[in-house]
Amino acid sequence: MKIGNVTAVRGGIAKGHLYGGELSCGSPVNVPLIIVQGAEAGPVLWVNSTIHGDELNGILLCKQLSEELDPKTLKGTVVITPLSNPMAFQTKHKFTWVDRLDMDQQFPGSPNGWFSERAAYTLFEEIKKHANYLISLHSLAAEYDTVPYAIYKKIAGVPEEITKKTEELTLAFGLKANCIVDLSQTGAELPGAIAKNMDVNCILNGIPAFMAEVGAGGCFQQDKIDLSKNGVYNVMSKLGMIDRPVKYLEKDRYMVFKRKFPTANRGGLFEPFVKAGEVLEKGTKFGHIFSPLEELETIETDAKWLPLGVTHFPPVNTGDIIGVIALEWSPIQD
Ligand SMILES: [Zn+2]
Repeated sequence: MKIGNVTAVRGGIAKGHLYGGELSCGSPVNVPLIIVQGAEAGPVLWVNSTIHGDELNGILLCKQLSEELDPKTLKGTVVITPLSNPMAFQTKHKFTWVDRLDMDQQFPGSPNGWFSERAAYTLFEEIKKHANYLISLHSLAAEYDTVPYAIYKKIAGVPEEITKKTEELTLAFGLKANCIVDLSQTGAELPGAIAKNMDVNCILNGIPAFMAEVGAGGCFQQDKIDLSKNGVYNVMSKLGMIDRPVKYLEKDRYMVFKRKFPTANRGGLFEPFVKAGEVLEKGTKFGHIFSPLEELETIETDAKWLPLGVTHFPPVNTGDIIGVIALEWSPIQD
């Protein structure tokens, strides 16, 4: 296996870059790449992180994973792209600064398009060529109080066994909350081109894939990293790549069938009154928005809410998302 300038070594670790274009000053944009190839044959698991430039926990997770994996006992190959969008990372922002696009809404990409479309194309061509399974590591925005959660998508027309395997691996990952997004009904969910997400395009190409939200952006949170790193090992166990039983670190895990992303009506300073993970009855005060001069808005729950994320970064504009809310959920029986 050769990806970018990295040639895999059987029973070893190889590191290098995937070429990702050039800056106007002539400097290359390099996407870091690690291939851990086991001594024995087996599936190829691709772990991708930081397609949104301010979501950093996954980078440290990938570093620790690559240091901990033992290629001598590994069956199959783990391909790791810890920092898949260097151009967004460079400006500490979710989007790519050169074209102001969300790279995770550009798949399968285009070889002749905008910077983010080309970056998505280059990466996705390699994923299609090599990966059997993929985990896409994200985080919520900076300053979010979070319940770590995974998301997998149901897509019409995808073979049943791909959907089943995707669900099996998502649940094996073992985070507290596990969201199913039915793509035929996502109109009411997060705005944006979900159909052009990396994981969706993997699934459309027969590669079971899901997203994990590893805590908050803009920082390293080792406790959240540990939960998701355990998830990667659980997936590897399920795929027969390592000899280790599946371990669930989270108790009382649940499936989430419907989410919503409440937004601010007024611009000002948001202060939450609740914590992520606590069940809120209808009519609970979720938080308020105020200016230095006056009280502007109180946000109340309009149904039973289970917040998976609550922003703790006070400045909000009209339309800014202030939380990620589970509206319908049920416990997972082990
Ligand atoms: Zn993200």
